[in-house]
Order: sequence, then structure tokens, then C-alpha cells
Amino acid sequence: VWNNCLSFIEDNISSQAYKTWFEPIKAVKLTDNALSIQVPSKFFYEWLEEHYVKLLKVALTKELGTSAKLVYVIKMENTYGNKQPFTEKIPSTNRSQVQSQEVDVPLKNKSPELKNPFVIPGIRNVKIESQLNPGYNFDNFLEGESNRLARSAGMAVANKPGGTSFNPLLIFGGVGLGKTHLAHAIGVEIKDKYPEKTVLYISAEKFTQQYIESVKKNNRNDFIHFYQIIDVLIVDDIQLLSGKAGTQDVFFHIFNHLHQNGKQVILTSDKAPVDMIDIEQRLLSRFKWGLSAELNHPDYDTRVAIIKNKLYRDGVEMPEDIIEFLANNIKTNIRELEGAIISLIAHSSFNKREITIDLAKKIVDNYVKHTKREVSIDYIQKVVSEYFQMDVDTLQSKTRKRHIVQARQLAMFFAKKFTKASLASIGSQIGQRDHATVLHACKTVDNLSSTDKQFRKYVEDLNKKLTL
Ligand code: ADP
Ligand code: MG
Repeated sequence: VWNNCLSFIEDNISSQAYKTWFEPIKAVKLTDNALSIQVPSKFFYEWLEEHYVKLLKVALTKELGTSAKLVYVIKMENTYGNKQPFTEKIPSTNRSQVQSQEVDVPLKNKSPELKNPFVIPGIRNVKIESQLNPGYNFDNFLEGESNRLARSAGMAVANKPGGTSFNPLLIFGGVGLGKTHLAHAIGVEIKDKYPEKTVLYISAEKFTQQYIESVKKNNRNDFIHFYQIIDVLIVDDIQLLSGKAGTQDVFFHIFNHLHQNGKQVILTSDKAPVDMIDIEQRLLSRFKWGLSAELNHPDYDTRVAIIKNKLYRDGVEMPEDIIEFLANNIKTNIRELEGAIISLIAHSSFNKREITIDLAKKIVDNYVKHTKREVSIDYIQKVVSEYFQMDVDTLQSKTRKRHIVQARQLAMFFAKKFTKASLASIGSQIGQRDHATVLHACKTVDNLSSTDKQFRKYVEDLNKKLTL
């Protein structure tokens, strides 16, 4: 067992460190899941606990499972020439303390494949770069009605990571509303308050890539172990795990491990858990354990405050009426709001023109044109009912009248086409139908539009209305 641990350790630290700290160790006993190792001095023991405890834990867990224990046996230095050695047993620090320590293991060799500081085949680099962007902090995350709950929950988590009932903290909301910013802000604040904690920010996309990579390289277990030694794990855009069963499975195990050990998990998603599709039920139910906090569209005052703050930080002045114009015209996406400001400033300085309302109009036009409006299932039902001159209740009703059935089927068809919602979720939103009904509707619409001219016209008209 110990030899296996050693070769794992050897692979993960410099040969100098290995020679100094691991070669002198002797394995002395193995009972059940406890391995006793003999170290030359108390100082030696302390050094190991301070610097290599996580590595040891990982190595041992690999060999003996999660209940593995390490017992140090210290060989006393005998200064009196007494030949008889005697030993003192010190049980390894208990788990919770162990995990809050940061392990600093130097890279064995800076191989090019390790450029990315946290793609860590074999957990070479145990000092984990947090990947946080210090530019996204609480100071510049302006508070407003739209984000008050999420922001203060984030603050609470930052003050006591793992120590609140907000675990996991799930931040959800539409595109450009500050999910990534807030997620970083929490991490940055934790790093500030608890520098010894291992914080990691990662996008779900990157997490997936790493996972796939680890499977290819046959070190899925290392991948899991790596994530299990993190104190605060932030996963951005968790909805991207949708449909990826393997990644969901591995995330499930990591999540459970962290949660059970009182570690903080922070997630973001562009959907509320109830609207997430193709995510396993067991994961969804975990997401609901903590707090789900929504980021809503900022109200007018918050938009003005965000614009002013941005201008102030960039050292730029802008007439009040233009600020108001921007705030009035870009309402649903803070990233677009910032984009418009930047391009306005760029245009005016490039062409040495004053920032005028006309210029602002042009730029906002550009922004609004290029961005697709979000189509929701509610919106689809509204458009379809209007088109057929009925109200939404009628569309959803149980009636079997042909034109109403067709309207309902069209609504389902477009919901499938224009939203990411699952069949089941579409069904439940359009008059409490099940997923088979929605599937049937989609097929019917497909069939009818290739056989029935009038019906094809409905599809085309509605398509136009919905993509306008
Ligand atoms: P999301 O991840 O939800 O798509 P981001 O976090 O990337 O959105 O935010 C988009 C932009 O809007 C970022 O530049 C961010 O700094 C800014 N932003 C979002 N919310 C706020 C806020 N409350 N105060 C200041 N800036 C914000
Ligand atoms: Mg984001």
C-alpha cells in the first residue's frame, strides 16, 4: 500500500522534495484502513502535515478508500546513546482541519501540457489557482431591487463559506444579468477573508472538457480527487451540463463529497432548477438543497447607476440625457448596456465627435437589432393565440375542437423549436400535457405542414411573427 502511495506521491512532487520528505519514511503497520508510518522526528511530522497532508490524503484515499486514516509514528532522536528506540504515536489531524490547509507542492516539471494551472493529470500541482477575476468584486457589483436577494445571499456565503444554509448557492437569471460577476465576487471576497481556503472558479464547459480529457487519459479518479480537495467550488453556467450524463455523474459525486464535508458550492445557471432540462433528477434535487436566488432585469434606477459607475471607472463623462436614453432603451441585458457605452465612447473619440443623442440612437439601434429577443413559452402561447384570435386559456383548454387543437400543437411545436425547454416542461406549461403529447404535436405539425397548404401558411406566418 505504502509503495503505491509513494509512487503516486513521487509523480506529483519534485524529486528533491520527494527525497527529502518521503524517502526517509517507513511504513510500519497496516490495520483495516489505518496505515502507520514512521517519521524521523516531530519536526518532520509537522512539516508533512503542513505541506503534504492533502497529497497524502489523496494518495491514501486512492489506496484505502475514503475512510483511510494515517497514523504517524515518530522515532525519537536519542541523544543519550540509548540504543533502544521508542516511539510516540500521533494520530493524523482530523479530517476537517486537514482539509482547510493549503498544500503547496512544487511542480515536478513544468511540462507544456500543464500550462493550464488546473488541468492536472495525476494532481501534479496541488496549489490550486483560483481562476478568479479580481475585477469582478462586490464593490463594483451595484445593488438594486433586481439583485438584492442574490447579492446578499452571496455576501452571507462569502462571510461563512460552508457555514450557512445556502449550500449550494444557485444564482440564476438571464444572459448578461451579472451571474458570472457575482460568482467571482463571492470567490474574491472569500479569498480575501480566508486566504488559506482553496477556492476554484470554473465554467461548466471547462469542467466538462477536463472531465472528458481525464477519461481519455484514464485518470478519472485523479480528476475527482482534485475537485474533492477544494474548499469553495464555483461552477458557472451549470445548465451546460444538460444532456451530458457522464459529466453530471462525476459532478454529482464531487458535489456530494464537498457538501458532506461542509465545503461551499456556488452554482450559476441561466434557468431556475425547475426549468433545467436533461439534468438528472438527483442533481436537480441537490441544487434545491440550498438557496436559489434569481437575478432579475435591473430596474431603471439600477441601470442608470450601473452606467454612471461604468463611466466613472473609465473616467468618461456623458451628458445626462444620453445616460437616460441608454437606460431607457437597453433594459434586459447589462452586458449590452456596457457594450453600448463602450462603443459610444469609441465612436466619439475615434471620430472626434461629441456624444450626441443621434449617435447614441444609432448605436443602440445596432445593439437592439443584433440581439435576438428571448422567446419564452408564454410569449409563444400569446402570439399563437392572438394569431388564431383566441385567448390563452382557450388554447390551453381540454377541448378537442380541431382549430384549437391545432393552435395548441403549433404552440408546442414552436416552444420546442425556439426554447431549450424539455418536452415535459413544454407540456406542463401548455395546459398540463405530458411529454408524449408534445412529441405527438411536433410530429403532427411536421406532417401537416408538408401535406396541407393552409397549415403550412400558419407555420410560416407564426415563424415570422416569433422571429421578428
Ligand atoms: P451573466 O454571467 O449573467 O451573463 P455577467 O456576470 O457576465 O452576466 O455580467 C455582464 C456584465 O454586466 C459584466 O460586465 C458585469 O460586470 C456587468 N454587471 C452585471 N451586473 C452588474 C451589477 N449589479 N453592477 C455592475 N455591473 C454589473
Ligand atoms: Mg456568465
